[in-house]
Amino acid sequence: MSFTLHGISVSQGIAIGRAYLIAPAALEVAHYLVEPNNVEAEVIRFGVAQQTVYDELVALRAELPPDAPNEMGAFLNVHILILHDELLVKEVIKLIRTRRYNAEWALTEQLECLAKHFDAIHDEYLRERKADLEQVVERVLKALAGLPATVVINNTMKRDTDEMIVVAHDIAPADMLKFKTQIFRGFVTDLGGRTSHTAIVARSLSIPAAVGMQQASLLIRQDDMIIIDGDCGVVIVDPAPIVLEEYACRQSKKLLEKRKLQRLKFSPAKTICGTKIDLLANIELPDDARAALDAGAVGVGLFRTEFLFMNPHGDLLEEEQQFNAYRYVVQTMNGFPVTIRTIDVGSDKSINSRNEFEVAPNPALGLRAIRWSLSEPQMFLTQLRSILRASVFGPVKILVPMLAHACEIDQTLALIAQAKQQLDDAGLEYDPHILVGAMIEIPAAVIALPLFLKRFDFLSIGTNDLIQYTLAIDRADNAVAHLYNPLHPAILRLISMTLYATRQAGIPVSVCGEMAGDPTLTKLLLGMGLTEFSMHPSQLLLVKQEVLRTQLKSLGKPVEDILASYKPEEVQAALDRLMQA
Ligand code: PEP
Ligand code: MG
Repeated sequence: MSFTLHGISVSQGIAIGRAYLIAPAALEVAHYLVEPNNVEAEVIRFGVAQQTVYDELVALRAELPPDAPNEMGAFLNVHILILHDELLVKEVIKLIRTRRYNAEWALTEQLECLAKHFDAIHDEYLRERKADLEQVVERVLKALAGLPATVVINNTMKRDTDEMIVVAHDIAPADMLKFKTQIFRGFVTDLGGRTSHTAIVARSLSIPAAVGMQQASLLIRQDDMIIIDGDCGVVIVDPAPIVLEEYACRQSKKLLEKRKLQRLKFSPAKTICGTKIDLLANIELPDDARAALDAGAVGVGLFRTEFLFMNPHGDLLEEEQQFNAYRYVVQTMNGFPVTIRTIDVGSDKSINSRNEFEVAPNPALGLRAIRWSLSEPQMFLTQLRSILRASVFGPVKILVPMLAHACEIDQTLALIAQAKQQLDDAGLEYDPHILVGAMIEIPAAVIALPLFLKRFDFLSIGTNDLIQYTLAIDRADNAVAHLYNPLHPAILRLISMTLYATRQAGIPVSVCGEMAGDPTLTKLLLGMGLTEFSMHPSQLLLVKQEVLRTQLKSLGKPVEDILASYKPEEVQAALDRLMQA
């Protein structure tokens, strides 16, 4: 019987194949009390299992194939850190010693306790790190049981003709590597969100995936024929022949389009009328710089440095570590500009408070981004010095997130001057003319734009937060996700006002929120006057294709119509006209 499941689209494209079910992640474990004189032996048994897993992870990391996604090494490092995390190890040993639980029981008990803390975290990215903890615990449980560490692919399942789709409750990042073979065409998981590791890896492998499918691994049976429509996060199980045919047709069209798109990699991004458009990349980790270059980006428009600090301990990186990370990106980009955004965390992310899981009453409105940096001036100065020092190796710009107040701007600029002075005193080099810019992502910043125009060298519009704060919609809350609308007239007006005012003032401006990477909005942004876009590298060629099809003077009327409309259907109709222009 055919049925359809709906989840979250995390990696686009269409995959058609037979279901390959992976057993549920959680293992059944024995619960028993250890004899008092065997307690230390149980602690040792746990230690041996921990060492076995450590050896496995280190070996996996060493054996990463050259074409493995960049994130994989980072994920394995995270798992190694979790494996030795005091919160896990100390407490497990304590439970064995004080309550005489067997190692498996102690481990699952502590997992449950930590999982509750994770569930209370508001930040989507950090909340999803619970999956990493579960995966590490599962490995230790397997080691305690003497089972093989990773999923074993059953070769008898191999078919020559049918392509397979992995269906699982959840997939460990390390196990994703085992699936990087020709036979697997997509991933479907019960758990996960847009920033879960399965999603991140699937995206970087360009494999269609749908996550957050709730009960998929229970409802789908081994060998069921399934279709993943990665564009809308839908899985069709046992499709009718006519549906299958339709999707097969769409799939080959898409593959063809993708191949054709690669030809654009070396074409300069210019409109038909010859206006040069700069397409830059958003990156999260230093290794992403390679993907940026591979996609043909002419620079990094947004380096979200907070990802460097997202380790299980929430440790802040020392100046040298930060400097090395920034320098690596600058050198990799080989002369292209690199815009380094100062840390954008909130109190919900607790990166400076070890082992605490405090949640601010309203984290998105709390001590976030520059507010947090200004409340931790020593940490901020360390980051500023590291960025400044990296500027010796190529063009670097500093970008400051979430500014709204004149006093914040003054304090930020004063701290940048202080960081420069500290480097002068220490005899360390930096680019004295480094450009400093501000993110425009709070409606107040747009309304009071002159505050910014006089003090900054460039601006960058963060549409993700601009939408969140203008429409009062928590961007991490699924319950209001349907109201998160980039085409809301208020959003379009705020963007247009910013582009107009910066043009008048002669200040360069870019858009670095998700809107910049959405090809259906490229002409709209071009028509509003945008000439610099920064986006996820995977979107770059799609956006370039739109740029190459654009005749700027034909955009004026439809863009005017869009900006004059208040009704969603009128906006959409004008946008459709614009897409044809
Ligand atoms: C934005 O808000 O649009 C942005 C680019 O920053 P982030 O998504 O990191 O908040
Ligand atoms: Mg933002």
